[in-house]
Amino acid sequence: MPEIETAELLARAAQHEAGHAVAALHYRLPLLEVVIRDDGSGNTSYCRNLGLPEAEDWCVTTFCGGEAEHDRFHDRRGDHGDLLAITNMLAKLKLDWSERRLAELRHQARHLVKRERSRIRTVAAALLRHRRLSAFDVKWLKACSVPRPMRM
Ligand SMILES: [Zn+2]
Repeated sequence: MPEIETAELLARAAQHEAGHAVAALHYRLPLLEVVIRDDGSGNTSYCRNLGLPEAEDWCVTTFCGGEAEHDRFHDRRGDHGDLLAITNMLAKLKLDWSERRLAELRHQARHLVKRERSRIRTVAAALLRHRRLSAFDVKWLKACSVPRPMRM
């Protein structure tokens, strides 16, 4: 794998985690905070363990990291951890979802990322600057970043 500049690693991590964070708020999941680190890793965490009623929304939210990265950088690198997290969550909740159902949820994630593109960018830029945003910060940024109205 060709070496990626640190700046790009961070920009990717910010875009990826911003995808998770914006989606989490969209589904009203109990977001705690979102973090990126110098090595290009990052994390989106919740205030509590999520349960069965939230499984589907959480799954779409989890796909939104890789989808947000893909939306901006047009390739996929950073979603191995997410796919593993989904597998583990399904096992923990004893859910036996088909490949087809998972593909549908990923499709939903892709649409959500497109719809929230400008907000994800805004959150990613702030995350790049501050490295850590609370759920409150993300909410505020999301509210401030209204998609531009279409020109007539
Ligand atoms: Zn992720």
